[in-house]
Amino acid sequence: MKPSFDLSGRTAIVTGANTGIGQAIAVALASAGAAVLGVGRSGMDETEAMIAAAGGRFASFAADLSTIEPVDDIVEAAVSAFGSVDILVNNAGIIRRADAIDFTEADWDAVMDVNLKTAFFLSQAAAKRMIPNARGKIINIASMLSFQGGIRIPSYTASKSGLAGLTRLLACEWAAKGINVNAIAPGYFVTNNTTALREDLKRSSDILGRIPAGRWGNPEELGGAAVFLASDASAYVHGTILPVDGGWLAR
Ligand code: NAP
Repeated sequence: MKPSFDLSGRTAIVTGANTGIGQAIAVALASAGAAVLGVGRSGMDETEAMIAAAGGRFASFAADLSTIEPVDDIVEAAVSAFGSVDILVNNAGIIRRADAIDFTEADWDAVMDVNLKTAFFLSQAAAKRMIPNARGKIINIASMLSFQGGIRIPSYTASKSGLAGLTRLLACEWAAKGINVNAIAPGYFVTNNTTALREDLKRSSDILGRIPAGRWGNPEELGGAAVFLASDASAYVHGTILPVDGGWLAR
């Protein structure tokens, strides 16, 4: 049987689709045939233009994901725009940097709320739509910090390690209900999230020196993994955390 990566007729919600990794994944899913609802707090004109140029379908929904208040409305917006919710990509995320000894409660809560709490409750809202159809794909954007400790990012590491655990828990609960829950763990990619790291010449060169591929990743290089995990090609893949990292974890 030829594996199918075709997403025609599917609707995908992608959070944080205005820039970086979320934008690249939105474009990849739309190019594979999915209608995409981009969700976030910033304008999505650039993403919309990129998807239109690729011949895809896109709508946007304005939402601040620092609270779970909008999760039901997001799911309803996808259904009213495109008729269903088949794929959810929990991509929106933030990072706060400070030594653990000085780290504030505000920086802890802000990161945990967006990266973990909203990802869970949006997954729950989407699954309520997916389970009656016995079909759905949830893709969480994890991190190398789902596997490693890192430094100066305690809430980020806790949130991304938590997201890996949550991916496995949801896979265990929902696999038999027809939903595939998996995660992609990007290595070091050129986006707003890593601006501070790339501007720190010592950290930047230490990181680069450890990447077997010898370069940072471009967000477009996550598109293939996202399409795979969103498509029938991954029908029997549940609860995995797929690194796309230029070999970082292999070192
Ligand atoms: P980014 O350019 O900073 O993108 C983060 C996205 O999340 C943006 O769209 C941002 O919207 C959105 N977002 C943040 N807080 C939000 C809120 N309260 N409400 C709505 N949207 C919100 O960085 P990125 O690298 O593409 O990050 C995407 C995901 O990949 C994150 O989960 C990040 O942790 C993860 N990741 C990145 C790397 C990397 O090397 N870059 C590695 C591993 C994992 P605004 O533009 O409006 O702020």
